[in-house]
Amino acid sequence: MSETAIRAAIVEVNAELERRGMNVCSTGNISVRWNDGMLITPAGCRVETLAPEHIVFTRFDGTWDGPLRPSSEQAMHRAVYQHAPAAKAVVHSHADNCVALSTFRKPIPAFHYMIQGFGGMEVPCVDYHPFGSEELGEAAGKALAERTACLLANHGMLARGATLLAAFEAALKLEALARQYLLASSLGAPTLLTAEEWVTVQQQYRTYGKAQALDRQPRWQLP
Ligand SMILES: [Zn+2]
Repeated sequence: MSETAIRAAIVEVNAELERRGMNVCSTGNISVRWNDGMLITPAGCRVETLAPEHIVFTRFDGTWDGPLRPSSEQAMHRAVYQHAPAAKAVVHSHADNCVALSTFRKPIPAFHYMIQGFGGMEVPCVDYHPFGSEELGEAAGKALAERTACLLANHGMLARGATLLAAFEAALKLEALARQYLLASSLGAPTLLTAEEWVTVQQQYRTYGKAQALDRQPRWQLP
């Protein structure tokens, strides 16, 4: 996929996150791995004016091209690419339900089998660090080495994917699960799947979603 097409796709996903209430006033940020760095949304971007040429190419050494500064969370995106070679795209959001859960500073446990979709029996919650800091980046990068999404304590969530569409969908699924977990928790502590039940979930996930090659055609052409 060309750099031009990736820039356009990032703008589309940024707007779609905003439409879904997951990127209020562009508090989130999006990147796609590119050459020896990434294409990332700029600092202070607004969905109303963001254009493909505003997306900033930022190298893993922290330098970038052009007049615009990259997102203040560039360290977090960079760390994910460095810890997870399979990561090709990263989405960061302050989605409501993820933020609410993140203030408890606990992982989301095995209350639903779809938790396995992020790579394990729970979705971790990264310890609190100041936003934009190298410490937050490193902690988030480590958390996503073996998982495809995590909560960030008192901050929000982070998701990665092998494509921009996969990272976007991981973010949507995590926000839905966070909402469902909060809803269930309003009646007390939910019953969690047992370790034995989880073994079956893991077996099912080896073939889940792979049984048939559905030709999916999203509205946008995503890498
Ligand atoms: Zn943030």
